[in-house]
Amino acid sequence: MAMKNYLRLIIEIVMGLLLAGALAFGYWSYTGKNHVMSELTEASEGATEAQEELEKLTKELEEAKEKLEEAEPAAQQMMAVKESFSNGVVLQDYEAFIKAQKGPVTSERQLGLGALRLLTKGAEDPETISAFQKALEMAEWSSRLKSICAAQNALAAAGQKVKVLADCAAEKEAKGHKKGHAVHWDYAGEMGPENWGDEFPTCGKGTKQSPLNITGPFEKSKDVLVVNYKEGPLKILNNGHTIQVNVEPGSTLKINKDVYNLLQFHFHRPSEEQIDGKPMAMVAHFVHKNAEGKLAVLGVLLNDGKDNAAIQTLWNNAPKAEGPEVVVDKVKFDPSSLVPAALTHYSYEGSLTTPPCTEGVNFYILKTPVDIGKKQVVDFPFKRNARPVQPLNGRKINAN
Ligand SMILES: [Zn+2]
Repeated sequence: MAMKNYLRLIIEIVMGLLLAGALAFGYWSYTGKNHVMSELTEASEGATEAQEELEKLTKELEEAKEKLEEAEPAAQQMMAVKESFSNGVVLQDYEAFIKAQKGPVTSERQLGLGALRLLTKGAEDPETISAFQKALEMAEWSSRLKSICAAQNALAAAGQKVKVLADCAAEKEAKGHKKGHAVHWDYAGEMGPENWGDEFPTCGKGTKQSPLNITGPFEKSKDVLVVNYKEGPLKILNNGHTIQVNVEPGSTLKINKDVYNLLQFHFHRPSEEQIDGKPMAMVAHFVHKNAEGKLAVLGVLLNDGKDNAAIQTLWNNAPKAEGPEVVVDKVKFDPSSLVPAALTHYSYEGSLTTPPCTEGVNFYILKTPVDIGKKQVVDFPFKRNARPVQPLNGRKINAN
């Protein structure tokens, strides 16, 4: 394929994904966008033209963001964008944009469109996914797959409901990894934590990585936490790395005056965080995001002790094998049933503890552990799914 065509191809993909990715992270959110941007920038490294296009689009998005901010207060803004995102208005805009371009609709443009469809309404539509996969097969393969997988994994890791393409798994299989496994990493062996950096640069090069060994001296934490989680339908999945519970909108964590929405919570065995060099039996990570796209994780340590009724409810309904989210109709679950009354904590700046290890995540590890029965620990379907502790690199750990 001619170099010029190749570059155009990248531009189209980057444009489609940037639009979709930025919207998924929050149209109005600069921070969130930067996360996707950095993934995409990495993916399209070396393609100057693509970079220029990226910059142009960033500017346009920023202008759109400003207009939106002028128009409505933050909360309404968020709802409006969410709504237009889910009902396909944004998709229509992009379709109109493509129509306005001169010349025929190329495979590249279809691909950009496919990416957006996939990330809007398409994630629930098998036909869109298969059409998108066909579009992917139309021309040169590896670079676009890489950028799409990077964007999808980043979105999925940030708690967005994004179906990661089967082709991202196919690429992994081609490299001789575990068959049928949908992602590129593991907790042991060739794709273990020591090698995450090969495919996810931040995991290897990042300087503010999680988890940490929590040990003094501490700075004084002035942050005040208020947990306001609500009961909702139990939506639970086994994603091949952990048991995760997805949470409907409405449950929040307030950090001082900043409101974070609870997206999901999941478990690690043993606890990823260590206290004075020692892990606990397990930890629950509650993952939140605020309106600016910033992530905050509340960690609840689970200590060997009495059986925990809330955990039992989850384990009774957790799929044994990797697969999609299961909605358990007859069971309602209140995430606050896993949170101790005292919210005294250790806090630090860190990262996602799974690839792509994105930084800029604030951690609040509660000092008060919650009991879990010995058998309940054994019944958790992952024997070991904890990333080793990471270097502090001069970071301060706060405590209150
Ligand atoms: Zn976690």
